[in-house]
Amino acid sequence: MCGVFGIRAPGRDVARLTYFGLHALQHRGQESAGIAVSRDGRLTGLRDLGLVAQVFDERKLSGLPGELAIGHTRYSTTGSNAWANAQPLLHHGPARTVAIAHNGNLTNADALRTELGGRFGSTSDSEVVAALVANDERPVREAAAAALERLQGAATVVGLADGRLFGFRDPHGFRPLVLGRLGDDPVLASETCALDLVGARFEREVRPGELVVADADGVHAEQVVPEARRGALCIFEFFYLARPDTRLAGVEVHGARVRMGERLAEEAPADADLVLPIPDSGTPAAIGFSRASGIPFSEGLIKNRYVHRTFIQPEQGMRVQGIRMKFNPLAEVAGKRLVVVDDSIVRGSTTRQIVQMLFDAGAAEVHVRISSPPIVAPCFYGIDLASEDEMIAARASVDEVREAIGATSLAYLSLEGLQASTRRPESALCRACLTRSYPTPVPARSDKLRFEPSAV
Ligand code: SF4
Repeated sequence: MCGVFGIRAPGRDVARLTYFGLHALQHRGQESAGIAVSRDGRLTGLRDLGLVAQVFDERKLSGLPGELAIGHTRYSTTGSNAWANAQPLLHHGPARTVAIAHNGNLTNADALRTELGGRFGSTSDSEVVAALVANDERPVREAAAAALERLQGAATVVGLADGRLFGFRDPHGFRPLVLGRLGDDPVLASETCALDLVGARFEREVRPGELVVADADGVHAEQVVPEARRGALCIFEFFYLARPDTRLAGVEVHGARVRMGERLAEEAPADADLVLPIPDSGTPAAIGFSRASGIPFSEGLIKNRYVHRTFIQPEQGMRVQGIRMKFNPLAEVAGKRLVVVDDSIVRGSTTRQIVQMLFDAGAAEVHVRISSPPIVAPCFYGIDLASEDEMIAARASVDEVREAIGATSLAYLSLEGLQASTRRPESALCRACLTRSYPTPVPARSDKLRFEPSAV
């Protein structure tokens, strides 16, 4: 879970535009943020732990002049939440210096790191990508193409080198990347909402396996690796990660989530007085559930929007504390039979606390409805879901999960229902954390700290 942004726009304030682009991608990672710029071919970067607005201010942005820029918001999926792993990463190699911003997890990072040898400044798999380009004596376009050919797993990348902006997606297309235009200037972004925010128009999605390079001669696109026969855009993007106003593969995410809720109401109706979401991620599906069932929608739980998304915070201790600070029920839930809609249950601890909070506020019944199927397997492609033994549904039946979260009833959306709501064919999506059927070979170990000095 990370957001990437890139722009080539001589004459514009590229760092400032990237800053705003990153604001639109803040939901994809809240641990660190950074911007790297290229001015006359020289790279400068500024990155730090924290939110975009905490890392940058007017003074820092004005110290980043250039014609090209990339930016990154990070949630750690490989490597710890440490400054050294904040991106964009700058890597100095014999051929050039490269700045990289990466979303996704490589499944062959261990082998590539071993092959490339020492001198890594981070414990993140992303630096491998930078090193491959920085070590390659050929022109940037060929070096980036060669790097793309070597990578396995999930890699949506934007980079700067030799005064050029480049971006690519792995051949499965696990993570999104779109190409837009601000006037004639090319913009790359994880999601269309970032194009909207900077005033760029959407041109097209970068295809899986495609490399895009922007320089003084324009934008060159090349299908470096054939698109995988089985596409694997992450279905989690549809029901949880992407912003609702983003269009993924031409489908508006909010609309897809409303359809998930409508379908859920058909598959798992409940006799109830109010439908309420666990905000914000459960809101569109709760709207859909309410519409399809005719049960009135209620805000029910008021969210303190200044406490960040609990899922994004990596430590379990922080997560428990986060929930207590985050929601407060309205008086209208007292005495009511409630349908509570959320997008997913991973560990179950958040849902259990919310159910308890609603009963404490006087709810008569709490029927939990989840707009995705049970999550039963880890992700190797860039979403830090938890390990399998931490996933409540991996080892428990639906009724056991219901009991653990203390709900009156519990139902999940079927896989078919979720699939249909995305309006994408099964062959276009990764659903491995729901099905245990991975679209690529995966490493035996998914430990995100495996490149830390203390890791064995
Ligand atoms: S395993 Fe799940 S979270 Fe990971 S890419 Fe596939 S669908 Fe997305």
